[in-house]
Amino acid sequence: MRIAILSSEAVPFAKVGGLADVSGALTKALHSQAVDSLLIIPFYDQIDRALVDDEFINDLEVTWRGQEGRISVFRSTTLKAPAYLIDAPHYFARGLVYGATDDFERFAFFCRAAIALLKRFDRAPDVVHCNDWPCGFAPVELRARRKHEEFFTGTRSLFSIHNMAYHGAFNPVDLWWLDFLNYADDFMLSGTASALKAGLVAADTLSTVSPRYAREIQTPEQGYGLDWLLRARSDRLAGITNGVDYEVWNPKTDPHIAAPFDADDLSGKQKCKLDLLRRFSLPEESARPIIAIISRLVAQKGYDLIRQGASGILDTGAFFIALGAGAREYEDFLQSWHDRAPHRVGIYKGFAGEALAHQIEAGADIFLMPSLYEPCGLNQMYSMRYGTIPVVRATGGLDDTVDNFDPNTGKGDGFKFGPYSATAMLEKIREALYFYSEPETWRGIQRNAMKRDNSWTITAKKYINLYEEIIELPRIF
Ligand code: ADP
Repeated sequence: MRIAILSSEAVPFAKVGGLADVSGALTKALHSQAVDSLLIIPFYDQIDRALVDDEFINDLEVTWRGQEGRISVFRSTTLKAPAYLIDAPHYFARGLVYGATDDFERFAFFCRAAIALLKRFDRAPDVVHCNDWPCGFAPVELRARRKHEEFFTGTRSLFSIHNMAYHGAFNPVDLWWLDFLNYADDFMLSGTASALKAGLVAADTLSTVSPRYAREIQTPEQGYGLDWLLRARSDRLAGITNGVDYEVWNPKTDPHIAAPFDADDLSGKQKCKLDLLRRFSLPEESARPIIAIISRLVAQKGYDLIRQGASGILDTGAFFIALGAGAREYEDFLQSWHDRAPHRVGIYKGFAGEALAHQIEAGADIFLMPSLYEPCGLNQMYSMRYGTIPVVRATGGLDDTVDNFDPNTGKGDGFKFGPYSATAMLEKIREALYFYSEPETWRGIQRNAMKRDNSWTITAKKYINLYEEIIELPRIF
């Protein structure tokens, strides 16, 4: 089975959020399960050249704006499975992944070039796996091309939703020169063109990153104007929970952390905690619990609740450590919170790279994710492996991956609250801290969390089953 994964970000090349972890780890996990997987991503200028091997081809013909041009494609074997990097400096040498006014154009080009690249291989992939709106153009193009190109007749497409909130919206006037005018209906949504919608309409099958999120996006509250479409296609919508790459997130072998540890011996975690306090210039009071958060600073991540509950959080006596980049209003809030309580609140504003994220996971006691919505969420699963107990809002993948601790049975690996309110969040934090003060009980919760298996092996098998189903599907277009 040959699977081509198209993504706008992938670890270890370029990362903005969880999509990068998933695209990189899935490509690798499929390869280790004997699937002929390959990854295609843009060659951004910020990608470390040491990860890229050689120029694969320098004459990939791409028809764009009515003209035929030639671009280069580079190759990397860092993931073991081959990764191909589309080299178009005009679009991708911008020092950013997203955030340009012409993002829709940049990624429409990426999709066109990726499909042109597939044609250069000895045979077509069985499935082209497209991820989020930047790859929404690809299923439309593939559907059109397989009608008259023998090469693609057996190829199916899967479109995976990692976040429904991002549409890649643009002015429909631009559809004509992007060559999608014949498919305008697929894109049109409330007067704009939506690359997300086009992917959802044109792909043979859809998936998203947790079963609960698969249900939530079929409701008007979380469907971002497309719940009707997802309900209509619900028989082709799978929910597969993301996995964790335990080669990368493993406290026993993690090169970034101060001391290794595992479920049977947690003594190293104490060293990691002191190391973390030092890194954030906080007093080395190791008995005081550390509550941490690592996330993009956007409303989705529940920062409004943290802002409302800020003094309540400090009233518990805990330290608070935050790593995040994003909206100015939340950066300002973090800064002023830190300025008010410099000995209790540690902050890092910006994208820190991997090491600091690992050090926080290893050194913290509690990981807070009060998300408004969360398609899957990865940090709660990373936390569990590091014995850092998640306190989460029961939404999307957070609900699917965290079991609320029950003191009567001793079962459970985290703490979940329901209502989106600072009061409910604070209540759960206080409950978690109550059990933190009982070392034996806390140890039990840590053991439950660390032993939980969220590995990619399981997730990759589910994707393989889904790919097999897709390949069997009759062509719907
Ligand atoms: P999302 O994809 O919505 O951003 P996830 O929890 O699925 O959320 O994944 C976020 C990923 O990005 C995690 O690997 C997390 O550690 C990482 N991350 C988020 N913000 C930062 C940051 N400022 N610095 C370093 N890593 C970050």
